[in-house]
Amino acid sequence: MIIFSLYALLVWCGAYHWRRSWRGFCAAFGGAVFVLPAIDPLVYVAWLLAGERPTWLFAFFYAYAGALVLVGLMLASLPRREEVHPCDSCGYELAGIDVRVCPECGGRFTRRARSAGHRASAPRPAPPR
Ligand SMILES: [Zn+2]
Repeated sequence: MIIFSLYALLVWCGAYHWRRSWRGFCAAFGGAVFVLPAIDPLVYVAWLLAGERPTWLFAFFYAYAGALVLVGLMLASLPRREEVHPCDSCGYELAGIDVRVCPECGGRFTRRARSAGHRASAPRPAPPR
């Protein structure tokens, strides 16, 4: 039984690690892809050992595969933590912005300073017309 717990842990760790990417969703569905073909052989072995057909094992394995996928999908859908790089002049969030001027206050910053979260330079006056 511990191998089922470890396998579920492995699948869910992969789904969480690669969350919000195609790899995370592949980990969630891939967990069931390896379990579903193994259900019939496992039930057959249990049938040979027990002497009677353990139909409850089918329910167990299908519920296990369903839980693998559902929890894996939930973990793969969790948001990633975004890095926060606020403008030092006005506090406007600069993450994901490709320009070198704060769109809120006009403060200039270098790409390196922005990615490191360093201080933005003072706002630059508007150019004369
Ligand atoms: Zn700003």
